[in-house]
Amino acid sequence: SGAKTLASCVFCKIIKGEIPSFKLVETDLSYSFLDINPLAKGHALVIPKYHGEKLHDVPDEYLVDTLKVGKKIAVASGLENYNILQNNGRIAHQEVDHVHFHVIPKPAATDTEG
Ligand code: 5GP
Ligand code: ZN
Repeated sequence: SGAKTLASCVFCKIIKGEIPSFKLVETDLSYSFLDINPLAKGHALVIPKYHGEKLHDVPDEYLVDTLKVGKKIAVASGLENYNILQNNGRIAHQEVDHVHFHVIPKPAATDTEG
């Protein structure tokens, strides 16, 4: 495929299976897995199989697919309350320089988990 990867990138290594991850959904253009430091139970990350540092670095076809996968995770998990989050740049709290969408379940206040 035309996917662009960066050898030193942690998320490119996850896509290639060089670093283990708990895989959720994989398509030709996207890969999704559980966040290693979850903000809530089921916190997922969806990443394009294209190394772009920020949203504007990634071709549209990849971005469309990552959102489709985020939706699929929300539907499959039966989520009613959740946040989709995507950070660009250090000041905006981006820590990993490979575009990723967080899918963060928001449990009800009565649910003590998360
Ligand atoms: P950011 O702050 O860049 O938007 O979020 C980066 C996210 O990636 C964090 O929530 C962090 O826990 C997660 N993360 C960083 N390294 C790894 C890893 O090696 N494996 C997994 N599963 N998640 C990671
Ligand atoms: Zn990468």
